[in-house]
Amino acid sequence: LEPAYSFMIRTRTPGGVVSPAQWLQLDAIATTFAERGLRITTRQAFQYHGVIKRELKATMQAINAALVDTLAACGDVNRNVAVAANPVQPEVHAELFALATAVSEHLLPATRAYYEIWLDDERVGGDAEADRIYGEAYLPRKFKIGFAAPPLNDVDVFAQDLGFIAVIEDGVIVGYNVSIGGGMGATHGDPETYPRLADVVGYIAPEHVIAIAEAVVTTQRDWGNRTVRKRARLKYTIDDRGLDAFKAEVERRTGVTFGPARAFRFDHNGDRFGWTDAGDGRAHLTLRILSGRIWDRDGLRHQSGMRAIAHALLETDGVQLRLTPNQNLVIANVPAEQRARIDELVAEYGLDTHVAASPLRLASLACVALPTCGLAMAEAERYLDTFVAKFDRLLEQHGLREQPIHLRLSGCPNGCSRPYLAEVALVGKAPGRYNLMVGADHRGQRLNTLYRENVDEPAILEALDALLARYAAERETDEHFGDYLVRAGVVRDRRIPLEVAA
Ligand code: SF4
Repeated sequence: LEPAYSFMIRTRTPGGVVSPAQWLQLDAIATTFAERGLRITTRQAFQYHGVIKRELKATMQAINAALVDTLAACGDVNRNVAVAANPVQPEVHAELFALATAVSEHLLPATRAYYEIWLDDERVGGDAEADRIYGEAYLPRKFKIGFAAPPLNDVDVFAQDLGFIAVIEDGVIVGYNVSIGGGMGATHGDPETYPRLADVVGYIAPEHVIAIAEAVVTTQRDWGNRTVRKRARLKYTIDDRGLDAFKAEVERRTGVTFGPARAFRFDHNGDRFGWTDAGDGRAHLTLRILSGRIWDRDGLRHQSGMRAIAHALLETDGVQLRLTPNQNLVIANVPAEQRARIDELVAEYGLDTHVAASPLRLASLACVALPTCGLAMAEAERYLDTFVAKFDRLLEQHGLREQPIHLRLSGCPNGCSRPYLAEVALVGKAPGRYNLMVGADHRGQRLNTLYRENVDEPAILEALDALLARYAAERETDEHFGDYLVRAGVVRDRRIPLEVAA
């Protein structure tokens, strides 16, 4: 590769949690080595774009100096483990975060190559033994795990290969419902590929989480499709081999029998913006970060603002900066006496966009797409702001501006922004052209449906205009747009029977 070839680097940050000190280090790395600031991904990682080849090693070493790594953040391994970022019961987060970190560590590849290549570790021994979890050939494809804390489903747990849904009684996690077989990716025009929601297979005690995670990963390692890469994700293994057979194999490998799933109910899969009380004199502030991009440009000073906030909280014990699975940011565990100062800084640097943003804007996601992602067929991140403004105007014309419609843009059908779980999604087909998908719900429990194929912006807005007119005239009280579209028969109900009565 040319010396000036540029790369993307993604961190492994389970639950997206860093301290203010780590934030400052990661921010400095973005300024020194990357283009376009820091970007929050939908798996609670940081992405650095435009790191040039000759500075790769220095960048990796700087990231490690911040006690963050990039190990297994890409590749056919378990990726960054996602965690509910701001549960209704704040004490639940600490337990979920600790367990998710343990799962992430447990499922790391054993190879020392990462340390030898990037950190100048001495090469030890000759050929490495086969990895205990990944064997000689790793997994057939990437693997994703999420921990959810009902009633919030911000991690979109049913989009994960493996999900752990906390069962919380009197504020205490007593166990987990386990879901397997979710995944968003698809290929245009190939019916052999499709997004799939995970199935709930049963309940386990907390002490069995790591064993179950390992068994699901190793069963997929052994049973997954290694011939046809497009069919290599766990969701296809489950459809090919059968859910019952897969579940039985996991039970056989662990000696753990799944109990009947416990009652749970999700209310929504978005973020809770503004301050929420942590119940111990501290509070969490969730900020809206458009497309997860924290970057000083076009008059915005969000990167500077977060730097100032991290400095202000540097000496405060227990403060966390949490990336959310919806590309936003939680400033967590802020003591009461520091709230006013944080509010001042948020206002000074224009980080308070959640205050005046429309519900549509608050609930919108976009993957990176062009110009960075080599798989992109159309714009997503760079188009989001423009499209939201036009969509908002339509909503206003129909008296629907306060409707919290979930919108997700994706530059290709791989689905990094989890578009198939949006009430309205644009999935890139070609420059300026998208598949318009509609009809998912607000809880991450129903997939949307293709409504218009390969259409441009005027056709998208025309289609939405007509649907919104019907919705405005026919909706029932508090009925969400996606739910209306299903009830009205505009799209079919693609909810899988995964609801368990609360
Ligand atoms: Fe992911 Fe496709 Fe978007 Fe690239 S263009 S970030 S692969 S969804």
